[in-house]
Amino acid sequence: MEKSHGATYESTRTEPYSDRNADTAAKPSPSMDVVVNAAMSADGKLSSCRREQITISGPDDFDRVDRIRAAVDGVAVGIGTVVADDPRLTLDDSERRRQRRESGRPGDPARVVVDSRGRTPPDGRICDDAATTYVVVSTAAPNDRLEALRAAGAEVIVAGDDRVDLPAAFDRLETAGIDSLLVEGGGELIFSVIENGLADELTVFVGSLIIGGRDAPTLADGEGFVEDFPRLSLDDVQQVDDGVVLSYDLEEY
Ligand code: NAP
Repeated sequence: MEKSHGATYESTRTEPYSDRNADTAAKPSPSMDVVVNAAMSADGKLSSCRREQITISGPDDFDRVDRIRAAVDGVAVGIGTVVADDPRLTLDDSERRRQRRESGRPGDPARVVVDSRGRTPPDGRICDDAATTYVVVSTAAPNDRLEALRAAGAEVIVAGDDRVDLPAAFDRLETAGIDSLLVEGGGELIFSVIENGLADELTVFVGSLIIGGRDAPTLADGEGFVEDFPRLSLDDVQQVDDGVVLSYDLEEY
């Protein structure tokens, strides 16, 4: 099954992971195709204990990620990443943008921020007019923040009472036309996506450096699993730049 780097993603999702080993009620699982991609150091860190963005991969990996972005309808990050990195999440390659437009799609994929309290800065790069921005909040987000975000052009989606309810949020995004989503991090969001059984595929660039630090974000943070650890199926190993890209299918987890 060709799932990576292409426009075609086949959903293999079954049920939320947490439903299999916890007493949580089953939630409807959207059929959106979800690929998780991140770059980590050889010791599994996404950035340093200062939570500053670190260049972990090189030009070929940036190009690989740009290719995935060009194939999907949306690119998602958590509010922790927005606050730390002020990312724009648009395409680097203008030819890919042109090709998307030619096929009737928006030039850039939509940006999605998972942000319970509406802390996304309205003047941040993620809210510029380069692409549609969805800020997914919970009912705990104060109205004045939501108004400021709407005034900046963002689409606000409410899902969840305290924290963002990811399955519900993904359902709403799918209704809004996001059929495929690239989740770029950080570690809190990636853990939740996996915990909820929402990911179809994981690709991770492992760079040849050590970052260290017990408080540095890792690929999957959150509460962590203590049993019934999600098992991944290794699909591909590829040497890229000075590291490797590991591609996993999450069909069996
Ligand atoms: P994050 O995953 O970007 O965002 C986490 C935040 O999202 C949570 O603290 C929470 O804040 C909000 N959230 C709302 N609902 C959630 C849910 N259901 N599940 C999970 N999160 C939810 O933050 P992070 O883990 O701190 O990661 C940020 C770091 O990762 C930065 O240092 C950044 O540079 C790095 N990063 C690295 C890469 C890479 O590829 N190397 C990629 C991305 C980011 P609220 O409660 O306030 O809503």
